[in-house]
Amino acid sequence: MKEARLLDTLKEYFGYEKFRPLQKKIINSVFEAKDNLVIMPTGGGKSICYQLPAILLPEITLVISPLIALMKDQVDGLNANGVPAAYLNSSQEEADKEVIFQKIDNKEIKLLYVAPESLQFVDRFLSHGKVSLIAIDEAHCISSWGHDFRPAYTQLGYLKNRFPITPVLALTATADKATRKDICKQLNIPGAEKHIASFDRKNLSLEVKPGIKRFEKIAEFIKNRKKESGIIYCLSRKTTEDLASKLQAKGFKAAAYHAGLNHLERSQIQDDFINDEKQIICATIAFGMGIDKSNIRWVIHYNMPKNLEGYYQEIGRAGRDGLPSDTLLFHSYADVVQLQKFASNAKNEEVQLAKLDRMKQYAEALSCRRKILLSYFGEFMEEDCGNCDICRNPPEFFDGSIIAQKALSCIFRLKASEPISAVIDVLRGAGNETVRSNHYEQLSTYGIGKDISWHHWQQYLIQLINLGYIEIAFDRNNHLQLTEQAKKVLFENEKVLLAQVKEKEVQSRSEKTT
Ligand code: ADP
Ligand code: ZN
Repeated sequence: MKEARLLDTLKEYFGYEKFRPLQKKIINSVFEAKDNLVIMPTGGGKSICYQLPAILLPEITLVISPLIALMKDQVDGLNANGVPAAYLNSSQEEADKEVIFQKIDNKEIKLLYVAPESLQFVDRFLSHGKVSLIAIDEAHCISSWGHDFRPAYTQLGYLKNRFPITPVLALTATADKATRKDICKQLNIPGAEKHIASFDRKNLSLEVKPGIKRFEKIAEFIKNRKKESGIIYCLSRKTTEDLASKLQAKGFKAAAYHAGLNHLERSQIQDDFINDEKQIICATIAFGMGIDKSNIRWVIHYNMPKNLEGYYQEIGRAGRDGLPSDTLLFHSYADVVQLQKFASNAKNEEVQLAKLDRMKQYAEALSCRRKILLSYFGEFMEEDCGNCDICRNPPEFFDGSIIAQKALSCIFRLKASEPISAVIDVLRGAGNETVRSNHYEQLSTYGIGKDISWHHWQQYLIQLINLGYIEIAFDRNNHLQLTEQAKKVLFENEKVLLAQVKEKEVQSRSEKTT
């Protein structure tokens, strides 16, 4: 497709002068009929990647989207821009559906939004026509590795079988490496081109505090923010309500929001928040999806989220306008225990627990938090961010290159087959069952870290994970494996700065539980 034609279409239908980074590349790839996977943060501009091709492609574009509530808005928006679009979902009357089928037959529709549950309708009309493009929004929902698995999505792999030559465009704002791979596998698009936008949101400050005296800390945090909008995420409905009434007592315009409220109450609160009638929403994670408010100045996590994807998405609701905004996460071991309980009741228990572990490591980090977050999404940052609590108040560092080399070569010798505890046992030359049955005492790295305590090794390994040298594989037994970055330490003598493990902090860990 000629570039001028694309730009004209962008201007004519969407009113924009130029493409954002990646949009053009993705659109070109769509026109080459390739399969694509797009990872782009919320607000990054994913929709145009399929809406614009849909306008120019000869046949219909199918858009799979789980958010029935948002479909109507999207379709209305497109129609207002002169793009003929429609949607099919379970909320419609038969007669309405008939009208749409008729339009499809008459080739009067360019984009058709379909809820995954309603895919059977699609089959019916698709015998009449062809499909030019299949876009799958919120594609992480197909993967049980993702953080928002939806069973209805699992059928979508069928689309590629049904339309083998139609390009598939899978889009999501959140997917770690394992999830990305799984998405492509489940959708039967193993060769999909991957487009990964930067997840860095420099305007969001990051901070973690121990979860003691949380309300006092919140009061302190918002004391000079009487006019600013913010969200406080909580784990339970009860907490949202308690917190909201305590804040109201202090004179803040606060409201609680959770799935226990009826539809009317919820949309009232959303509207009040968007129109600045309510200033603070104390909410469960039910709040936020699809809320378009650009001037949210802060987000607090009263409880720890269950994984970094959720955390990142929730803090990402602050500062959409690009202005400086603050985030604060409370870290308590009681929350961790609670989340562990939830996770162990889940179907994919191992994955959930491993994700929770990464969340915990983030909260306990001693190095730039943004580096950790981005490395979780597969991005490597050269410089520290300067806008997180660790950067602003850094712990003491020392040259930990030798320690890093020992740890990394140990993982290398273990052929990336063991979890953190076994790696430490081998480093410390322990003589337990795992060591004996695998003959680890014969490894050259056996016992090379005797002089360092178990706890210190644990802290160092967590730091090395957080620095992006080691990753935890979520399959099998959460074994540690080396990243590309680790080669620089092992083979190019890259220097590694580690933070001193503070003894005092170590002892107070157990006391912090609230
Ligand atoms: P996502 O689906 O990734 O969350 P959207 O597609 O909704 O993001 O786009 C986010 C916002 O950015 C929308 O208001 C959209 O109109 C705008 N936008 C998208 N592409 C461009 C562009 N090339 N130039 C300017 N604004 C854009
Ligand atoms: Zn930082």
